[in-house]
Amino acid sequence: MMTLTKNKYDRIFNFSAGPAALPEPVLEKAREELLNFQGAGMSVMEMSHRSKEFDGVMENAEAGVRQILNVPETHAILFLQGGATHQFAMVPMNLYIPGKPVDIINTGVWTKKAITELKVLTEYNVAATTEDEKFSRLPLQEELKLNPEASYVHLCSNNTVAGTQYKTFPETGNVPVVADMSSDIVSRRLDVSKFGVIFAGAQKNIGPAGLALVIIDKELAERCPATVPNFFQYRHHIKNDSRFNTPPTFGIYMVGLVMDWLKEQGGLEVIEQHNETKAKVLYDLMNDFYTCPIKEEDRSLMNVVFRVQGGNEELEAKFVKEATAAGLSGLKGHRLVGGLRASIYNAQPLEGVQALADFMKEFQKQNG
Ligand SMILES: *Cc1c(COP(=O)(O)O)cnc(C)c1O
Repeated sequence: MMTLTKNKYDRIFNFSAGPAALPEPVLEKAREELLNFQGAGMSVMEMSHRSKEFDGVMENAEAGVRQILNVPETHAILFLQGGATHQFAMVPMNLYIPGKPVDIINTGVWTKKAITELKVLTEYNVAATTEDEKFSRLPLQEELKLNPEASYVHLCSNNTVAGTQYKTFPETGNVPVVADMSSDIVSRRLDVSKFGVIFAGAQKNIGPAGLALVIIDKELAERCPATVPNFFQYRHHIKNDSRFNTPPTFGIYMVGLVMDWLKEQGGLEVIEQHNETKAKVLYDLMNDFYTCPIKEEDRSLMNVVFRVQGGNEELEAKFVKEATAAGLSGLKGHRLVGGLRASIYNAQPLEGVQALADFMKEFQKQNG
């Protein structure tokens, strides 16, 4: 059964898109172990990344991810530095085959950033985009101009800024799929075997910023030309068990704790239902006053974007101000798109979503 976190310690309900709320029991556990990690007489931050104790930390994080996401043995699990943005460059450096342009499905800010790196490194084609519709929906399968000879297809599973999320992933034939899952990793069940690479910056759903989780088909990692500097080759990180150099040790520890927490919740089957319930509470409030610009089938369960009176900026500013005063923070939309956004990742308790819903109803009554 889901045990919901309580609003203790005077903590507010945090709807930030990222870095985002972490589960309270995870923070409590980290606090408990901060000064003396399991009898080592020091904190995780202070110990060698090659120590026996840290071996245990690494094993817990890796085994946790493997269990929670049911990662097959064909795929390696890596904890790398540089967040998701680093992966925008690292993926093409490793997987691009000259003469075989990368296909990318452009669904928002984060795929556009990935394109800026493809411009530097490879040939690429935009297989589809909904930019002229302000990314308010995902391209349909029949709209994709996929090249069966592409090196790989890049997509973003959940568009943190636009507020869209793939419910089912596109078919790409034999071409490997590379998915940026920064903002919906471990939020629902997933068939990892269908992906060549999955990467995620940690700060949305699994830990502190600066760390990227990378799940990669080991065979695919062997594609990398030897001309790529060693640090940027996945194969060296695989061979060295994410310790090619000193990894972000504390972040890895935190990911392990988040995986422990997910197991206690009952795994992704339970989390997925919980996330559906939370999102429904907010989407059910959409009416004439609150509007969600996103096509219904493509609405994200993680980032609920909405407008007040179709984009009344004055009223939206008032909303943010009054919500913040009521202990509901981080609701301002991304600076590039405006409006409002409630990020409700795994760690956002149902109470937080209900508190926001109550606030929204009251705000409508007074301003509608
Ligand atoms: C936040 C985010 C990123 C960027 O992550 P960094 O850790 O800042 O590099 C990339 N992609 C998506 C989908 C994101 O939500």
